[in-house]
Amino acid sequence: MKFGRGGFLPRVPGRPSRHVDAAPLPERLVVELRRDGLTYVPAVRDSERVAFGAPLAWAEANGGRVALPAPAAGTVTIDSSDTGSAGSVVLNVTSHDIHPLGTPCTPERTTAEAMRQALAEAGIWPLIWSSRTGAMPALDGSETPNRILVNFVAAEPFRARGKVIWGEYGQNVTAGLRYLPRLLTEYGIINLTLTELDHPVAQRIRQETAGHAWIHIESVPVRYPVEHPRVLCQALRQSDPRFQREDVLWILDVQAVQAIGGCMTDGIPLHERVIAVGGPGASNPRHVRARIGTGIDRLLERGELTETKRVLRGGLFRGRPVDAAAAVGYDDDAVFVLPRPEGREFLGFAKPGFDRTSFLPCFASQLTTAAADRRLTTSLRGERRPCIACGLCEDACPMGLLPQVLHRYLYRDAIDEAERTGLPLCIGCGLCSYVCPSKLELRKQFSEAQVRLREEREQAAAAEAAHKRQEEAFLREKEHSEDWRK
Ligand code: SF4
Ligand code: SF4
Repeated sequence: MKFGRGGFLPRVPGRPSRHVDAAPLPERLVVELRRDGLTYVPAVRDSERVAFGAPLAWAEANGGRVALPAPAAGTVTIDSSDTGSAGSVVLNVTSHDIHPLGTPCTPERTTAEAMRQALAEAGIWPLIWSSRTGAMPALDGSETPNRILVNFVAAEPFRARGKVIWGEYGQNVTAGLRYLPRLLTEYGIINLTLTELDHPVAQRIRQETAGHAWIHIESVPVRYPVEHPRVLCQALRQSDPRFQREDVLWILDVQAVQAIGGCMTDGIPLHERVIAVGGPGASNPRHVRARIGTGIDRLLERGELTETKRVLRGGLFRGRPVDAAAAVGYDDDAVFVLPRPEGREFLGFAKPGFDRTSFLPCFASQLTTAAADRRLTTSLRGERRPCIACGLCEDACPMGLLPQVLHRYLYRDAIDEAERTGLPLCIGCGLCSYVCPSKLELRKQFSEAQVRLREEREQAAAAEAAHKRQEEAFLREKEHSEDWRK
C-alpha cells in the first residue's frame, strides 16, 4: 500500500521486548466514565455487587448503546469527581474469575445485528473506526462497510505491536478474522496490513488465513503515523482504484480483532489489555497484560513514577502525562517513560550529535541506525522562539498541510482562514511539534482550535434550529389566528 508524503521513524531507545508479562491482579479496579470523547452514565448503584462482564455504565451513541463491562466481579463505589472529569466506578474485587457471557455462536450462524449487539455490550464496538463517522461506526445497521482493514503495524514509539498480540493470542485473532466478514457487504474485502510480508509471523498469518479469499495481505512502510486510521484510509484510496470515495471502510487493530474472537467464540467481554511499557526511562521495557482498571503504577518497576521521570499514557507523540492514580482503560495499549534531564548539557550545541534522535539530517546520528546509543529526555534543548520558516513541519506532516501557515493564522486569531487552509484535516499526530526547531507547540494549538471550531459549529447549528422552531411557531400562530378570524 502506498504511503504518501511526510511521516518519520524515530529511533528511540527502550523498545519493549516481545515478552508479555502478566500484571498482578489488584484488589481495586478503577473504571473511568469517559472513553473516546463519550461520557458514560453509571448503570450500578453505590455498594452494589456486580458479576464479571455486567455493564458498569452505558453511553448512548451512533444509534445505539455501548457498555463498559465489569473487568471482574466485585462491589461498586461511584466516584463522581467534581474536578471536571466524568468520574469513575471503583470496583472492590471479590473474584478475578472470568466467565463466558451468553451463548457463543459459529460465524455461519451469526447475524450482523447480533454481532453488533454483542460487541457493544462487550465494550468492543468503540475499538472500531469508521471512515463515515470518523469515530465508532453506527450501531443501528445504517452503515455496512465494503472494506475492513486490520492493522498490525504500530510505528509510534512504543505501542503494543501486532506481532506480539498475534504471538500471545493467535487463536483468538484467527477466530476474530473468521467473524469479521459477517459485518461486511457481500463481496467485501478484509485487508491485513503488515510491514514485512516474508517475516515468519506474516507467513504464519498467511497459512492460517489460506483459503479465505476475502482476506488480502498488504505491506505498509514502518513510518509514524502509518497506523492512524485517516492515514491508512488515504493510503488505501490512493493504492486501490476499486476502493471508491463513497465506499465505507472500518479500521481496527489486532487487539480489537482478538477481543472480537474471544467475545464471539467464548462470550468473553473486553476485560484486559496488552500494554507496551517502554521508552528511554523504562528500566524493564516489555509488554504487560493487565486487567482493565489496574493502576498504571503497577505496570512500572518500583520507583519509576517519580519526579525524575515523566510517564505518558500512550506513545511518544500522542501520549498524555499520567499521575499516580491513573488506571488502564479499555483502549490503552502503551505507557511511555521519559527521563527528565539531570542538568543543562555543557556546550551541547557544539557536539556532532551522535546521540540525537532527530528528524533533521544534519546530526551525526544519521550515520548510525542503532537506537540504544541515543538519548531522549523531556528537555526542549533551549527556549521557545518565533517561527523561522524552515519548513520542517511541512516536510513531516503526513496530511500534506502547511503547519507554519496554520500557526500564523491562529496566532492572529484568524480561525476561518485556518479552517480554509485545512485545519480540520489535522490528525493531531504531533510530528510538527516534534520537528519544530523553535519548539512551538503546534499540535496543542491545532487541537484547541479544532475544538473551538466544533463548538462554534454546534452553537451555530443550535441557533439555527432555535430560529427555525420560532419561525414554525409563528406560522402556526398566524394560521390559527386566520382560522379564528374566518
Ligand atoms: S499534528 Fe497536524 S499539522 Fe502537525 S504534522 Fe500532524 S497532521 Fe500535520
Ligand atoms: S518547523 Fe517550526 S520554525 Fe520551522 S516552519 Fe514549522 S513552525 Fe516554523
